[in-house]
Amino acid sequence: MSYVFNPPPVPSVPVQGRGERFPIHRVYCVGRNYEEHAKEMGFTGREPPFFFLKPADAIVPVPAGETGTIPYPPLTKDLHHEIELVVAIGTGGRNIKAADAQKHIFGYAVGLDMTRRDLQGEMKKQGRPWCIGKAFDQSGPMGPITPAAQAGDVTQAEIWLQVNGKDRQRSTVSKLIWNIGETIEHLSAAWELQPGDLIFTGTPEGVAAVSAGDTLVGSVAGLGELRVRVA
Ligand code: MN
Repeated sequence: MSYVFNPPPVPSVPVQGRGERFPIHRVYCVGRNYEEHAKEMGFTGREPPFFFLKPADAIVPVPAGETGTIPYPPLTKDLHHEIELVVAIGTGGRNIKAADAQKHIFGYAVGLDMTRRDLQGEMKKQGRPWCIGKAFDQSGPMGPITPAAQAGDVTQAEIWLQVNGKDRQRSTVSKLIWNIGETIEHLSAAWELQPGDLIFTGTPEGVAAVSAGDTLVGSVAGLGELRVRVA
């Protein structure tokens, strides 16, 4: 096989305790999946889960113990943080039932769904796709994947984010509107999940703007800390 130019490298993230990396296939994200965040975005009530995607190469892998760097992206004046539990799929499938979802999960990680909120808001108003607000370059910094067997019970884990040492977001994964199994059930009804898929499961309340020079530190208990500086 030869190509007209060299294909880009396979995007990947490190795996805790392993030499091999996790190759990324797709990055699915769940919108408004914590009630208090839905409220702060102006929505109430349980709506069916909905999804958007980021490109696989928008992921910025941050090795354990290191501080990642993301640029302040173009076109926005309102770059928001969204701390999220990320589910890494190891075994694909379609029409996966919530009760069987666990078997498909390779592991878990901490991720940031960085959002150009002003652009997303404008697209929402006009009924246009969110891509420019959500799927921009380097919009998904994330820490290493902890294999499921070593991750403990993430379903009850505390999730938090600090900016420059001050609390911005603090909640627990138990407050997900659509839990991990239900999310995988809905997602796999719409797309065939593949090994290498990542699912950003949604963010709790407290989303707000960051500026160049800020340092973000976030965690989901049991999965380590993700440290990112905005250049
Ligand atoms: Mn999000």
